[in-house]
Formats: sequence, C-alpha cells, structure tokens
Amino acid sequence: MGITITPLNSGFCTSNPKTYHYHPSTHKYYANVSGEDRRLPVFCYLLNTGSELILVDTGMADSDRANRYHHPGSEQLPDQAMPRAVEKAGYRVEDISRIIFTHLHWDHTFYMKEFSNAKYYAQKKEYEFALNPLPLYYKSYEYQWLGLEAPFLGCEFQLLDGEEEIVPGIRVYPTPGHSPGHQAVEVDTGDGTYHLVGDAVFLMDNFKPIPEIGYDVTPSARFVSLTDWWESVREIKRRCPNMDMILPTHEPALVERFAKTLVLGG
Ligand SMILES: [Zn+2]
Repeated sequence: MGITITPLNSGFCTSNPKTYHYHPSTHKYYANVSGEDRRLPVFCYLLNTGSELILVDTGMADSDRANRYHHPGSEQLPDQAMPRAVEKAGYRVEDISRIIFTHLHWDHTFYMKEFSNAKYYAQKKEYEFALNPLPLYYKSYEYQWLGLEAPFLGCEFQLLDGEEEIVPGIRVYPTPGHSPGHQAVEVDTGDGTYHLVGDAVFLMDNFKPIPEIGYDVTPSARFVSLTDWWESVREIKRRCPNMDMILPTHEPALVERFAKTLVLGG
C-alpha cells in the first residue's frame, strides 16, 4: 500500500475576491469576481505512509480569534480544530510524527504546539520572515506588535533550504510569491503524485490562462512578490499537468470533492 492522503477541513475563512483571489487586471475576465466576501475552506492534509503520520499544515484558529484579528465572518466548528479533526478521522494527536508547513501564516499553523511529538518543517526563508515580517504582514503572522503570540513562537523547526525529501515519497519544493518561503509538498501515492500547494494559489482559477491579454495564468491579488508568484505557479503546472492532482488549501470546490472522497491515494 502506498501513502494515503486524508483531507481535513479546519474551518471557513472569508476573503474578498477583488483584494485576494484575482489580480485587478483579471477582474473583467471572471464573471464571479464581486466585492462580496467569499467563504473559503482551510484544508490540511494528513499523510499516512504506513509507518508514520505526517500533517501538512495545522489550519486556522478558533472562530473568535479568526473574527477578531483576521477575517470577520470566519467560522471554525469545535470538531474542525485540527487536533479534534485528527481524532475524528480516527488518529491520535500524539502519533503525528512530523508536520510540514507550506508557510507560517496564522491559518496554517494554529494548534501546532498540541502536536507535541511532531518535528516541524518549514523553509528557512519563511521562518526568518515570520519572526520579523513587514508591517503589511503583521496580522498574517500574528506578530507580537499586535499583542498576539504567534502559534509557532518558541517552536524548534527543521529548517529547509530549497527542494528536499522529507521521507521516501514525500518531497517539498519552493513556491515563493504568496509568502517569501512558501513551499509545496509532493506526495507519491497509488494514484500518482499529488501536489499539496498551500496558498501558492487561492483558487484553481489561478492556474487558468487568459488568452485575451496573453496571460498564461490568472494572478492573485495578494502576494509578497508577483514575479515569484508567477514563476511558482508555472513551476507547479510544469511538474503537475493533471490539475486533479493539485490540492490547494482554500479552493471551495474541494469541499464537495472531499465529501465524496474521504481518502486519496492508496
Ligand atoms: Zn491561507
């Protein structure tokens, strides 16, 4: 049996299509781009190698914190807090041996300390930026200037520098742009290789070309570097031409897909 992937939704975060999901230059090519906020899921992925349980991200905070400090209208049901979600899926929190973080934003790292037997993995670039972010990203990283304590504060990380194998069949590669040290995770399964791409894109629409303006992708509106973002999305498409094998964190269509398919790979 190969590695399996169990998607676990940590809740729903609201965000605005115009200021987050679609770059201003693309708005007129998408009928669904409105000023109305959209509810996006916040998926984490539990990888079962047969001998180890590995999480990719630990998801968003509780509703109160998410609403107060981040995106009003966000919601996390008690069973969606990642430690509870892991238990509900039939696993034990203490059996998670590693956690790979796509990046260190608040909605990808919450509750990480509860997984006390896990080794934490992040790109070195991401970790360094997270400890001292630009003011524009204080909220994203729950920087202490706001009077908050970031979920990752005081944690020891295995810091990665570029492409690396974590265990056989599970590899990371850099996909900067959304954040400075963002990374994607490749997972070899019986179905082929899935790419867990975090927030390298918000929506699968971000992979679509817009031929009218010569774009080979649909850029998002929230990034630290759009040139890095663009190259990262090209790299994901190059490595994974089959879009069904690409699993971002926030794509709403995944909610229905994962309701029918509880475990991928095998
Ligand atoms: Zn996110």
